[in-house]
Amino acid sequence: MTETPPPRRARAEIDLGALRANVRTLRARVAPHAQVMAVVKADAYGHGAVRCARAALDAGAGWLGTATPHEALALRAAGITEADARILCWLWTPGDPWADGVEAGLDMSVSGMWALREAVEAARATGKRARVQLKADTGLGRNGCQPADWPELVGEALKAEGRGLLEITGLWSHFACADEPGHPSIASQLDVFHTMLEHAEKAGVEPEVRHIANSPATLTLPETHFDLVRPGIAMYGVSPSPELGTSADFGLRPVMTLAASIALVKRVPAGHGVSYGHHYVTEQETHLGLVPLGYADGIPRHASGRGPVLVGDRVRRVAGRVAMDQFVVDLGSDTVEPGAEALIFGPGDRGEPTAEDWARAADTIAYEIVTRIGARVPRVYLNG
Ligand SMILES: *Cc1c(COP(=O)(O)O)cnc(C)c1O
Repeated sequence: MTETPPPRRARAEIDLGALRANVRTLRARVAPHAQVMAVVKADAYGHGAVRCARAALDAGAGWLGTATPHEALALRAAGITEADARILCWLWTPGDPWADGVEAGLDMSVSGMWALREAVEAARATGKRARVQLKADTGLGRNGCQPADWPELVGEALKAEGRGLLEITGLWSHFACADEPGHPSIASQLDVFHTMLEHAEKAGVEPEVRHIANSPATLTLPETHFDLVRPGIAMYGVSPSPELGTSADFGLRPVMTLAASIALVKRVPAGHGVSYGHHYVTEQETHLGLVPLGYADGIPRHASGRGPVLVGDRVRRVAGRVAMDQFVVDLGSDTVEPGAEALIFGPGDRGEPTAEDWARAADTIAYEIVTRIGARVPRVYLNG
């Protein structure tokens, strides 16, 4: 049987060379003793978890981070062994495969008593010690254990460790506003973290790693690096926030380029409505180019009338609404051949927009732009 060739319609090029360079840049920003955990949740922010995980490990990341246990188990199933990388996963739900996690040698985050009990049961069931990392809610108000409940969680975890059921491998937390320079919650969370660490260590916890820094903290707050940093978005070459600077300011290069082939070019008269609702009407006779990507592919419908696309040698705006599978650009007096390349976003070298530009056009963050590129768009790996 011959394999179906990849569709010509569109592709997301993933520059693994850029990803490796970004990991090295991030490593150079942290103290030599501190490790880098490459966060590859949500299919590596849409870039492809297994390929990106391997590239990050090649470039010196020592740990991988995922949200769900299923994401972590999938990395192990793809052949990333315990010798290759430790993997921390932090978003557990009751009934999740804790025993599989123990068997796979995952580091499992525990934010409360129910999770600790599941980890202990999984250790009993497998006859293997469960590696757990206790997560502190130092002020984010999302996952993590409240300071008031911390002594009980730490105490019970230590008892289980004493019985040989657990190994407490880490103490950790997560920032709420690390991307807002000078936000008072940063110092306050750091204070609470120090207090909660001190309590746990006095009680007898000897963590391998203590960590709290995401990308913005890795890039701008060295006092938050502790033993390990957990960059996600920065590794993909995207700035965590325009307030902090551009990716170039940090020496990071965008990893994903989203490109499509123009599916149709046609001349239309003045006064012609374009796409659903006719929110765009041509002012004069013009050429329309059809871009075969839509909101099912992750092109935000909120960027209707605004999203920038490089076609030919000029950046054009989405004309009218983004539909499920396609949108239109007004080429004016220019024409291009059907099949010509449309660059939706990329590093910007060729004059194409960036994911940050799309975030602005859609009133969202660049994280959402790259992460939502759909499964219908094949990932094509460069510089593997
Ligand atoms: C997603 C996530 C990260 C990475 O965040 P970035 O802002 O992309 O660097 C780190 N830690 C946790 C707990 C996360 O959920």
